[in-house]
Amino acid sequence: MRILVKDIVNKEGQKVELMGWVSVRRDHGKLIFIDLRDRSGICQLVFVGKALYEKADKLRSEWVVKIVGQVNKRPPAMVNKDLPTGEYEVLAEKLEVLNEAKTPPFEVGTDGTEVGEDVRMKYRYIDLRRQRLQKNIRNRDKVIAFMRNFLRERDFVEVETPILSKSTPEGARDYLVPSRLYNGKFYALPQSPQQYKQLLMVAGMERYFQVARCFRDEDTRGDRQPEFTQLDLEMSFVREEDVMSLIEEMFIKAVQTLYPGKKIQQMPFPRMSYKEAMEKYGTDRPDLRETKDDPNLLAFCWVVDFPFFEKTDERWTFTHNPFSSPKPEHVEWLMEKKNIGEILTTQYDIVLNGFEVGGGSIRNHQPEALKKVFEIMGLAEERIMNNFGHMLEALGSGAPPHGGIAPGLDRLIMILENEPNIREVIAFPKTGDARDLMMEAPSEVSKEQLKELGLEIKKKK
Ligand code: ASP
Repeated sequence: MRILVKDIVNKEGQKVELMGWVSVRRDHGKLIFIDLRDRSGICQLVFVGKALYEKADKLRSEWVVKIVGQVNKRPPAMVNKDLPTGEYEVLAEKLEVLNEAKTPPFEVGTDGTEVGEDVRMKYRYIDLRRQRLQKNIRNRDKVIAFMRNFLRERDFVEVETPILSKSTPEGARDYLVPSRLYNGKFYALPQSPQQYKQLLMVAGMERYFQVARCFRDEDTRGDRQPEFTQLDLEMSFVREEDVMSLIEEMFIKAVQTLYPGKKIQQMPFPRMSYKEAMEKYGTDRPDLRETKDDPNLLAFCWVVDFPFFEKTDERWTFTHNPFSSPKPEHVEWLMEKKNIGEILTTQYDIVLNGFEVGGGSIRNHQPEALKKVFEIMGLAEERIMNNFGHMLEALGSGAPPHGGIAPGLDRLIMILENEPNIREVIAFPKTGDARDLMMEAPSEVSKEQLKELGLEIKKKK
């Protein structure tokens, strides 16, 4: 039966079967050493004797092999202190090649920073074999599993919401999906599950969360991807404080459990108003770390009291989320549509080391209040009803007061893993210019496909 390489340390003198990838081959004349890699790590194999030597001599990097051999303690001078299995090696008795591999486009044994990103992305399935990325992706899973458990223990229910949805005004450009059955009509990929999660509150779920993919057709940057993952959540019968303290507890416990080497600079997390952040730091994402030399320092903070509206091109638009409710003391201004520039929203953003890692708010659960937001934005009655009729209708059907937040998991994990950009913590990211080099997406489609969709392509000049 196959065992993992990490377990050879408990098998001295025993015969074991191992399967994995050839990481490195070292030829020492009459004997060959192979570093064998599997999901648990690396161990050294030794091939001696003419027949085994000749077989092992053919092995190349990244071939997949099965071996049977005996676990031996290495002589003291040969111990490799850098490897958890470094005191042992396996003297091979049988070797079977399970699959050969072409010469890899780059080395897998390094951290990959010496390789051009385009090549790494094209051969991502090989790139992901490197230890650094294995660690990132496995730790990502641990963070997500921790959060899922944390929320379930507190009565939250994970609910999937549609990916084929309707264009929503959340500030970014939508990805559109043409409809075959209704030519000329489009679905939109959700920028976030915002409306669905609120509708789940109307539906009486009370505590919802989802590890949700969000899609925004924006220019890609180091901390932005066309699709990204949020831990989206929403709660009924809550105020700002309830949501903020829940998230704060979750972040602190996740860090303390999964990243005990990290130090959280200040707990409870400091809070400041948008005004204060702008005046003091010139940004609403202040990096509060006392020293930037310490890669293990985490400086969380909350930024609150954002203006609800801002003026662009002579028109009022929301700064964060049209579904937010104003601070209680400003609800009257919203209802009377006065002092618009001074209305503050219940929006709270959570910032970590200068990155926004989440934001949320208490919502307008009364339809008249939500309608006023759209009126202030200058939307005509008909447009309001077309775009948001369902929300107004739902809020008028017994909607509980509710609010939520959505921490961005890619950024959070990027920071926890000390990575310079979110592509290093996403299994299959897009490049900086929004392409998937491995699948070659976006790609052209056939004439038949376009015809079914009732589409014609006009090439940009
Ligand atoms: N939907 C919001 C966003 O994606 C988060 C929230 O308000 O819950 O930023």
